[in-house]
Amino acid sequence: MSTVILNGRELSQTLFEEQKKKVEDLVRLKGRPPGLAVVLVGQDPASETYVRNKRAACKKVGIHAPDINLPPDVPQAELVHRIDSLNRDPSIDGILVQLPLPSGLSKDEVLYRIDPDKDVDGFHPLNVGKMLIGLETLTPCTPTGIMTLLDRNGIRISGKNAVVLGRSLIVGKPMALLLMARDATVTVCHSRTANLQEETRRADIVVAAMGKPLMVTADFIKPGAVVIDVGISRTADGKLVGDVDYASVFPVASAITPVPGGVGPMTIATLLDNTIRAFCFREGIPLQPARKNA
Ligand code: NDP
Repeated sequence: MSTVILNGRELSQTLFEEQKKKVEDLVRLKGRPPGLAVVLVGQDPASETYVRNKRAACKKVGIHAPDINLPPDVPQAELVHRIDSLNRDPSIDGILVQLPLPSGLSKDEVLYRIDPDKDVDGFHPLNVGKMLIGLETLTPCTPTGIMTLLDRNGIRISGKNAVVLGRSLIVGKPMALLLMARDATVTVCHSRTANLQEETRRADIVVAAMGKPLMVTADFIKPGAVVIDVGISRTADGKLVGDVDYASVFPVASAITPVPGGVGPMTIATLLDNTIRAFCFREGIPLQPARKNA
């Protein structure tokens, strides 16, 4: 059996090309490009890299993306005030506050302040609720990007057993909802799950999102399963690795994402897609294609 590498880097380049054309059409139609405000607070090196990559991707497809960099000691009230002015800014369709915020700042107050129509991360309770009840809305970028990666590689989801490792609000929970909405039978595992291996060995699709480097080895995987690795960790010698032991799982899986170059680039491509969707929603343009959330 040959294993398919689910190449998120390559697919994201294709998506960027498609998005560039869409943005050109929107500029012709409405006289302005979609706008995404990526707010960076402080100088955390990993956050700086993520923000740089997001802004560079926006530039590539023609999305307006002003730099909003605030010092680590910005008062909570001033940060909230900046969000309020971005909410009112007609040239801005999406607002993303890079996490984690420096200690002392309330993440929830900031995230919940973002206008739900501009919440391109899909973390606002209103959008989480809409996703749960199956209304078209902005859904979190990482799990949504994984759905695109599965779809564009022709991987069938309906009727499959899917096991999601992790139950965070950013990845695990929305991943489970999106898979369920596409008629997978979903099991969600976490740090208290009694026998993780027993659960994963029944899965046709495994999504690992624990932040536990190389924990998922070949003996966790049913032969022929599709394995999606969300984890990103750095080893002592500075190498990026996922939650999946790629070398041991590769010969067992039918398809697998590499780290890096798998899920990460799909997250950024989906952020841009969400920004274009937010623009269309705000400008009264029908969303194409519709996404199925329930
Ligand atoms: P969180 O730390 O918020 O959540 C981790 C989840 O994994 C929790 O639900 C936790 O369970 C569960 N978990 C931890 N240890 C185990 C274990 N031994 N067995 C089973 N479950 C376990 O992380 P995130 O969801 O934010 O991120 C997960 C990983 O994905 C990280 O490596 C992160 O860097 C990466 N990531 C990658 C992205 C990308 O674009 N590629 C985007 C977002 C995240 P419990 O709830 O019981 O504590």
